[in-house]
Amino acid sequence: MSETIFSKIIRGEIPCHRVYEDEAVLAFLDLNPLASGHTLVIPKEAVATLDQLSDESSAAIGRVLPRLARAVMAATGATAYNVLQNNGLMAHQAVFHVHFHIIPKFEGRGLGIVWQPIEVLPADLIALCEKIAKQAAEGTGKSHGL
Ligand code: AMP
Repeated sequence: MSETIFSKIIRGEIPCHRVYEDEAVLAFLDLNPLASGHTLVIPKEAVATLDQLSDESSAAIGRVLPRLARAVMAATGATAYNVLQNNGLMAHQAVFHVHFHIIPKFEGRGLGIVWQPIEVLPADLIALCEKIAKQAAEGTGKSHGL
């Protein structure tokens, strides 16, 4: 259970600029947008990070994300956008209720990205691939959280 400002928005205790709602999902405009149309898509299930989200809420989010991306593009005229999803303080998460940002990209506006790949050895890639694949195959258990 993760009680945050987003729980209050879901319950209607704090106003938001709502663009979409169904029984499992709410989407509203970000109050500090990186670009016009910057939208947050959240599950009503109150968990902090994506790895903690139930299959049902994940499916509900997945079902509407593309539709909401299309709506944001159509409304803003953007031809490019980023979907951002932060998990944990180190990953710039500020509100500990799972959320997806849809951020339209315009010239000089939108999400700025610094992409710094690490060096990796082929043997390490193979070992890591096996380790993650094993966890993914067995991964029906609870998340350890962040
Ligand atoms: P993150 O860093 O991924 O946790 O992003 C949290 C986002 O929530 C930020 O972009 C904030 O601007 C946004 N935010 C926080 N409070 C509100 C609110 N009451 N209404 C709309 N957006 C909010």
